[in-house]
Amino acid sequence: MERHVNMKDISDGRKYYRNDLAKLGCGDCAGCSACCHKVGDSIVLDPWDIFMLASHLNCSFQALLEGNRVALGVVDGLILPHMQIENEEVGCSFLNEEGRCGIHAFRPGMCRLFPLGRLYEDGGFSYFLQTEECHVRKRSKVKISKWLGIPDLEQYEEYINRWHYFCKGIQENARDMEEDVLKNCNMYVLQDFFVAPYENKDFYVQFEARLARAKAVLGMA
Ligand code: SF4
Ligand code: SF4
Repeated sequence: MERHVNMKDISDGRKYYRNDLAKLGCGDCAGCSACCHKVGDSIVLDPWDIFMLASHLNCSFQALLEGNRVALGVVDGLILPHMQIENEEVGCSFLNEEGRCGIHAFRPGMCRLFPLGRLYEDGGFSYFLQTEECHVRKRSKVKISKWLGIPDLEQYEEYINRWHYFCKGIQENARDMEEDVLKNCNMYVLQDFFVAPYENKDFYVQFEARLARAKAVLGMA
């Protein structure tokens, strides 16, 4: 989800990259799970997130929806899934009895990022540090690649970038689309990137095939 804010108001003004150190270490969250409670529908999920959830939980996208783990929302005209937080006091349904993330090893990309954000510009992105989001005031420096804990991070970042600009291409045109054209576009994206199951092998190869097909079908360059 794109936010239009002044970076000076929410960050330390720096741009970070995967090998940089940033003040992220919060003592392993030590009893705090604030990030998993009052977040509304802001944890928007991308195809990699669904691939990870479905393959590790051995279930379908449909089952995630029916089990109220995930819900659908509209982001700038585009229908995308997000983590379902039905009750903000209870928090995310993946929190375990100890108040820890029960799916830590395969948690979504946005959960991994926090309190980092992504700053998209000039066809790429950097990271920025949201200075007021985490309650821990004295945070230690951690390398961003370690914080994210994503194997093949360079490849993941390339994928994130390609997914972002694909979505942005639709979102920028959504306002001017005929209602049924936008509906068909949304149905296509939902079906081909989320509902249609991914095989339990290289995600990025499967994503690229779907992206190329979607661009051809939707007439995108
Ligand atoms: S998936 Fe894990 S880290 Fe993300 S909101 Fe849910 S409990 Fe928190
Ligand atoms: S606010 Fe900070 S300490 Fe609390 S859960 Fe979020 S990252 Fe962890």
